[in-house]
Amino acid sequence: MSVNLEDFMSIRGASLMKIKEAKDEGQKVVGVYCAYCPREMILAAGAIPVSLCGTSEAPIAAAETVLPRNLCPLIKSSYGFAATDTCPFFHFSDLVIGETTCDGKKKMFEIMQDIKPVYVMQLPHLHQLDAALELWVKELRRLRSTLEEELDVQITDEKLWEAIRTVNDETMAVKAISDLNKMEPPVLSGMDLLTVTWSRSFSSDREKLLTMLNGLQQELAASQQGQARVKKPRVLLTGCPVGLGSEKVIRLVEEAGGLIVAMENCSGYKTLELQSDTELDDPIIALAQKYMEIPCSCMSPNPYRFELLERMMEEFRVDAVVDLTWQACHTYNVEAFEVGNLVRKKGLPYLHLESDYSSSDLETLKIRIEALLEMVV
Ligand code: SF4
Ligand code: SF4
Repeated sequence: MSVNLEDFMSIRGASLMKIKEAKDEGQKVVGVYCAYCPREMILAAGAIPVSLCGTSEAPIAAAETVLPRNLCPLIKSSYGFAATDTCPFFHFSDLVIGETTCDGKKKMFEIMQDIKPVYVMQLPHLHQLDAALELWVKELRRLRSTLEEELDVQITDEKLWEAIRTVNDETMAVKAISDLNKMEPPVLSGMDLLTVTWSRSFSSDREKLLTMLNGLQQELAASQQGQARVKKPRVLLTGCPVGLGSEKVIRLVEEAGGLIVAMENCSGYKTLELQSDTELDDPIIALAQKYMEIPCSCMSPNPYRFELLERMMEEFRVDAVVDLTWQACHTYNVEAFEVGNLVRKKGLPYLHLESDYSSSDLETLKIRIEALLEMVV
């Protein structure tokens, strides 16, 4: 099967049509906002998981009539899409699952309940503690019962293991594509990488998606052989999640002559090393252990993010690091201090940017990014 990046661009539109058909036939759709939501549970319930994270500026003005202006644009965009009924994936969702990650998001979910049924999981923020894992296991069991009740299905262990294997394979396939950029020259630009990682979250056909991912990996690996060397500064992007619509920093880095070779954020590599342990007896424990490991800044402390960043700087042979914080995202903003220290200790140039989804700061961002790239020797 010949696969190219345009195939990934069309996933969102194609899925929308499939989801509409599936809804007409009685299948349920469950919307999710965060990497902590175990999509395996939704798949095991026979429903379609869809990603709802807002990455566009368009609905923010509407959101600001309800939410404070001084709130992360991702939260405002997500709520704005719901309030204006302009996201078809939200529109089709029978149920929305949220988590208590950051304060802005968890309070927004309380307000969103007026628009759609929202189920919020209590996420512990200290994953090194046994009691935290126990609580998270209980939360996943509570989610299982809720989905069974709300969707009128039975989630068997067998179905859960099947879904776990599907998601494990998919994660491995995305990692294999991302890892191709460890080579010099990298095969994918940051925009290409984002197209693959972001678009896949909209797929309603897991089997087809896995075939596409494996096909793309093989084609890219083959195309890499014999490629001419074009040396560009290799940049690692870390910080808040980015999607198509909120990709301005990736664009600016690449327009300035750099290449985003990897993204450590949760729309990129943050979850790609995590696999559920299929040797365990209880699929819920396997899921709980995996999801508790996600190194989001809402965890305190958050050592795995620093381990991962250090390894990524080495393995992707990075020349500089850009750390993007969405305005009013306190956890990533505070963590930027330690990220900066780590990057500088590795002898690399580091740039911390604080921005929103608007284009008002494009010129300032451009100047700062150009100055960073000039520091790359
Ligand atoms: S950055 Fe953290 S809270 Fe935000 S979507 Fe990713 S995992 Fe969830
Ligand atoms: S980017 Fe930060 S503030 Fe915004 S939803 Fe994610 S963790 Fe919360």
